[in-house]
Amino acid sequence: MLSRLRTRQALVLCLSKMTSAQEKKIRQTGCDARFDNLTRQLYATDASIYQIQPLGVAFPRSAQQASAVIHAAADAGVPVTPRGAGTSLVGNAIGEGLIVDFSHYNRQISDLDLEKRSIRVGAGVVLDQLNDFLKPHGFCFGPDVATSSRATLGGMIANNSSGARCPIYGTTADHVISLEIVMADGRVEKIGASHKSLGNERAKIEDLVRAAAAEMTERWPPGLIKRWPGYGIQRFLRAPDDLTNILAGSEGTLAAIFSAELKISPLPREIGLGLLFFAAVAEAMQTTVELLDLKPAAIEHIDRPLLDQTKGQLHFQAARDLLELDTKPCESILIVEFYEDVAERLSILQSRKIGLRTKILTDPAQMNMVWSVRKSGLSLLTGCIGPAKPVAFIEDAAVRPAQLPEYVRGLESIMKPLGLTASYYGHAASGLLHVRPVLDMHSADDLKKFRQVADQTSALVRRFKGSLSAEHGVGIARTEYMRDQLGDELLEVMREIKWAFDPKNIFNPGKIFEVGTDRRAVPTSQRDVPTRIDNHLRENFSRPIELPFQPVLAFAFKDRSFTGNLEQCNGCGGCLKQSEIMCPTFIATHDEVMSTRGRANIIRAALELRTNGHDPLKSEELDAALSNCLSCKGCTPECPSNVNLALLKAEMLHARWRRDGLPLRERIFSNIDLLGKLGCLTPRLTNRLLDSKAVRVAMEKTIGISSQRSLPHYASERFDKWFATNCSGGLRPPNGAHPPTPESGYGVTGRAPLQRNRGRVILWDDTFVRYHEPHVGVAAVKVLEALGFEVALVKNRRCCGRPAFSQGNLDAAAKLAKQNVTILSLQHSLGRRSLGEGGNAPILFLEPSCWSMFVEDYRELRIEDAENIAARCFLFEKFVDDLLAQEPDALRFKHESRSRGIAIHPHCHAKSILNPSFMARLADRLPGGKATVLDTACCGMAGAFGAQVEKYDLSVQVAQRLLDQIDSQPPGTEVIASGTSCRHQISDLTNLRAKHMAELLADALA
Ligand SMILES: Cc1cc2nc3c(=O)[nH]c(=O)nc-3n(C[C@H](O)[C@H](O)[C@H](O)COP(=O)(O)OP(=O)(O)OC[C@H]3O[C@@H](n4cnc5c(N)ncnc54)[C@H](O)[C@@H]3O)c2cc1C
Ligand code: SF4
Ligand code: SF4
Repeated sequence: MLSRLRTRQALVLCLSKMTSAQEKKIRQTGCDARFDNLTRQLYATDASIYQIQPLGVAFPRSAQQASAVIHAAADAGVPVTPRGAGTSLVGNAIGEGLIVDFSHYNRQISDLDLEKRSIRVGAGVVLDQLNDFLKPHGFCFGPDVATSSRATLGGMIANNSSGARCPIYGTTADHVISLEIVMADGRVEKIGASHKSLGNERAKIEDLVRAAAAEMTERWPPGLIKRWPGYGIQRFLRAPDDLTNILAGSEGTLAAIFSAELKISPLPREIGLGLLFFAAVAEAMQTTVELLDLKPAAIEHIDRPLLDQTKGQLHFQAARDLLELDTKPCESILIVEFYEDVAERLSILQSRKIGLRTKILTDPAQMNMVWSVRKSGLSLLTGCIGPAKPVAFIEDAAVRPAQLPEYVRGLESIMKPLGLTASYYGHAASGLLHVRPVLDMHSADDLKKFRQVADQTSALVRRFKGSLSAEHGVGIARTEYMRDQLGDELLEVMREIKWAFDPKNIFNPGKIFEVGTDRRAVPTSQRDVPTRIDNHLRENFSRPIELPFQPVLAFAFKDRSFTGNLEQCNGCGGCLKQSEIMCPTFIATHDEVMSTRGRANIIRAALELRTNGHDPLKSEELDAALSNCLSCKGCTPECPSNVNLALLKAEMLHARWRRDGLPLRERIFSNIDLLGKLGCLTPRLTNRLLDSKAVRVAMEKTIGISSQRSLPHYASERFDKWFATNCSGGLRPPNGAHPPTPESGYGVTGRAPLQRNRGRVILWDDTFVRYHEPHVGVAAVKVLEALGFEVALVKNRRCCGRPAFSQGNLDAAAKLAKQNVTILSLQHSLGRRSLGEGGNAPILFLEPSCWSMFVEDYRELRIEDAENIAARCFLFEKFVDDLLAQEPDALRFKHESRSRGIAIHPHCHAKSILNPSFMARLADRLPGGKATVLDTACCGMAGAFGAQVEKYDLSVQVAQRLLDQIDSQPPGTEVIASGTSCRHQISDLTNLRAKHMAELLADALA
């Protein structure tokens, strides 16, 4: 082990670094440029299987800065790779020189011209951002990549991306009017049909392309709508006055795009989907051809391997139900979309009675549900358990739709003898299936098969006169096949184009043209590795990750392994989106290190000893990645591969604390339940101390608790004490008597039976309810008793362990978990024996982070019997809503009509397990209730996170989305938040006091 580590260290040490002179030159431009190891590791991968560590990353704010930085890099002999969101699948967006990230600052949208149907965008504008801007005007940008939530227009143009609706919109190149580009020598030029710049280059390219016209006709017969063999010379031949035809699809190998003038399209007036279900993929392929006469906007194919990956995933359950996958299984589905004359065309489709069954959808929410499954295709597939994953390398080949059945047979005949399987999904109407053979890239045998499949598929595609890459680009994976696909003549034409733009091979070397294969090429670095499909693979393939610790967590819900879950991150960039719950720190900052992908990449870098100091558990890089993760669990349900950063982080921290000892602050934060107990001994004194400026400054200096943050006060009467003195069948009986409870010996403090007795429920009085917010517990008891439940608390309960778990103090968390499960199990067995129905009592939680501990993390901690206890645990709101769904009159509310709206901010742990819509349903049961679930992610407080002095600003930044949502509500709206930290954050940053749902219900009871 040690010798392997040393070998790795030696390898790491000999990696190239930028010289200080080169670095200085680039810094002098004034452009934000970073050369630290953290940044270099963050940008070493994209969504591909490849890894190349760059020398640095620049983030230009203006075309002038981009020009200066590219000029300086070129002068210093440093290659440049432009980059957007880094969602390229075959290594297009990585390089060993300077990465120029256009996605960080360059997000301006301007010059909307509805008459001309055009708009100007910065290269870093994201497709969804553009479409959100255009929608109110009735327009959209046509090409619809599946990565629309993060793919940038710069990346889309450079990859000539397209999507499902290619039959009506074509590809991105078809929508470019003009481009503002930065050349290798730093010149900023405008190109397009109406611009006369680069006249010499244009004339030269026109001559070259005209001379190759016959060869193009021979090699590329018509019928492919997504053909894309390197540079768009066929497109240019049709419009030789427009150099954008060459730039679009050039994968950053010719120039950098700073901004673009684009064509926009009117939104369709109506949309409808027909879903056709088949017993075999071959049938679906055949049908695709038969449907083209209906002129669909899209025909997409999804098959069973992909659909199977949605099983058990909260995020996709509604779509599974809609498609009736559990009751009416199928092997494959065609999604046929129509724009215009929808009813007529859908009815023709239905009348054809194709396949097993047909389903028609016109409801936008339902149609979106189906599209979300299709769009998450790749990540769903790579989310499969185990080291073998569907690998992207032949995933972008296209043939004419009529050739699909034969092409699929051809692929099967390549893979079958090698014992390989694959999913076949994608843009059937364009003849493009994203086929990803399932390979274990850690295994030498599978690496051989990887090459065999690539070689044979290249030959197969050539036989069909198809296109090896149709929308994802050539990248690293397909560069070595360019000669095979294009032939010498066309490849030479493209090489001449490259030299016309970039004579020193500065831009993205090694993509489209192999490194070192041209006499004129300037060597790009001391590590001139030829571009081959099997070079530059991610390090964990050739050197399996060795953990310097024994993981303690089970990763029970998916991979059952730390490394397995870590390797689930395929770089797809789903966590770079600006909506929903994953990942709130990226949404707030736009920084790669603040994304789930960034964090997973840095954990991998640390374990591969690529961090400074080569300590796998402790480094600045790891701190930057892990300490800012809120452990909000947003990634658990939303990352289609189920990367679970909260668990990965807890495990990494735990390994470090075990080795180095638990720091004081983490120890304190792990023990807030004990602090609560102590604080409540002398609440007035403690609260006075907590409010004292001097004490707070001292706390900030010694243990790093921000003095800007209010600390929760201790209650004058603890909730459990209140409960013990107020139980005689009703709430606060007149005489305040508290009869002894017969069950106290069984670990549960019970209350006397009620008139309408529904049996017993156990209320989990968490740390916050018990010591800080007893009124929430009182309200819950009031509601539960009104429903007819006998409420009990758990005697001698311990803290649920969430605070310790969040700090990576997993030994302490496991100890607490074991004690709680033992108490509850004992109560269960004794209860069953002596209390009849009482022993199985549901356990209700007011605090979602405690509930998620019981239902998820106790199992992760491998606590015996945790599963049985989890089955009895319910979120208070869900329990009440489920009951009211069966018996709407079980609670009687005051009949005053509510004039105030209700805005609900659900806790992210609740959202990670349940669809939060039930909370609005519950609040809507109040007379006149008008509830909205706010579109928020984590509140930013995240337990103790927001109280740390160095995290305060980030915590407030993350909260901004919640604050904006609250601000947008009508005045007087009541804000409901079930998490104590969420309520705390809201009261710290607004003038509002948010309530728990229990309070809302209790206040409204008749
Ligand atoms: C899950 C998944 C699904 C996908 N589905 C689709 C799909 O439906 N259709 C599709 O076409 N693609 C798809 N892709 C591929 C990819 O998302 C798209 O090609 C996307 O448009 C790339 O945008 P990006 O901002 O991530 O670019 P990047 O990946 O960052 O870069 C793409 C290429 O463009 C170059 N580049 C980036 N910005 C610039 C610039 N400003 N100037 C010059 N060159 C630049 C880079 O050097 C690189 O060669 C998918 C990828 C994933 C992971
Ligand atoms: S964390 Fe998930 S969503 Fe983000 S890049 Fe990795 S696989 Fe994609
Ligand atoms: S747990 Fe939350 S903050 Fe951490 S990576 Fe996942 S989504 Fe981001």
